[in-house]
Amino acid sequence: MWIFLFLSFLEIVSGADWCYQSQVSCNYSCTGPVEWGRIFPQCGGRSQSPVNIVSRKVLPDQRLTPLHLVGYQHAFHGNLSNNGHTVQLDLPGGMQIKGGNLLQTYKALQLHFHWGKDGGPGSEHTIDGEQFPMEMHIVHIKEQYTSLSQAVRDPAGVAVLGFFLQESNSANKKFDPFIKALTRIRHPSNKTRVQGISLQMFLPAQSDMSQYFRYHGSLTTPDCAQAVVWTLFESAVALSRQQLAAFSQLVFSREGRPMVNTFRPGQPLNGRRVSRSGSASLRPAHVIVTSTLLVLRHFA
Ligand SMILES: [Zn+2]
Repeated sequence: MWIFLFLSFLEIVSGADWCYQSQVSCNYSCTGPVEWGRIFPQCGGRSQSPVNIVSRKVLPDQRLTPLHLVGYQHAFHGNLSNNGHTVQLDLPGGMQIKGGNLLQTYKALQLHFHWGKDGGPGSEHTIDGEQFPMEMHIVHIKEQYTSLSQAVRDPAGVAVLGFFLQESNSANKKFDPFIKALTRIRHPSNKTRVQGISLQMFLPAQSDMSQYFRYHGSLTTPDCAQAVVWTLFESAVALSRQQLAAFSQLVFSREGRPMVNTFRPGQPLNGRRVSRSGSASLRPAHVIVTSTLLVLRHFA
């Protein structure tokens, strides 16, 4: 009886906090990605994120016109925090996205990052199996909602823009104020204010809003709500190795160790369609054939 109660207690304790695989250890019990579905049923759903994008299987879709970013160039002061799982910048009102076959305007709520260890592989989505060093998510919700928890009740309530970060020989100066601010949020629940930044500063130098992948999936952290219209851009943000490495070297997780490998492993597509913006004529012939078969199967 006592053993049973003790085991139940352990289960409650371990289930109380989710974590990434890198944080699962003997002396710090938390629920790693493989077990998320046990505590958060939606994490075991059939439309989960992230996914691996197989470029020869994506379907060109003419409706995926360039995305319009509204207010992304405006400077603002934002609250940056270490929430124990990532670093998150909360965004003030006035930044929106529209177009690109989104059903309506979505407003930006926050942005955060996923990374590896010392600049090694760390993105959540992968392209043809390739994992990038980092991935940035700018989370938006439909205009009429006031919070993420309200938006996730709508199957298309959330729109996330995903940008890959890749290594470059030179530093990206625009990221310096942000990386400097990480030294002020080393530990969970630390908060700081970042002055005079804009969303534009976080985007690729040659921002091309016309080339992207689109699919329907979920939040990549518990409770993994399947309410996300994903837009993953092909052009990546360039940071130096040192800048990429700063994230895992400056920020610590709850168990007091460097926060590393903050990504969920890839999830099965389960027949979901991944589309690509741009002209179908740009795609090789075999992709179009594959696409046709997939479309037929989709409507079967
Ligand atoms: Zn994310």
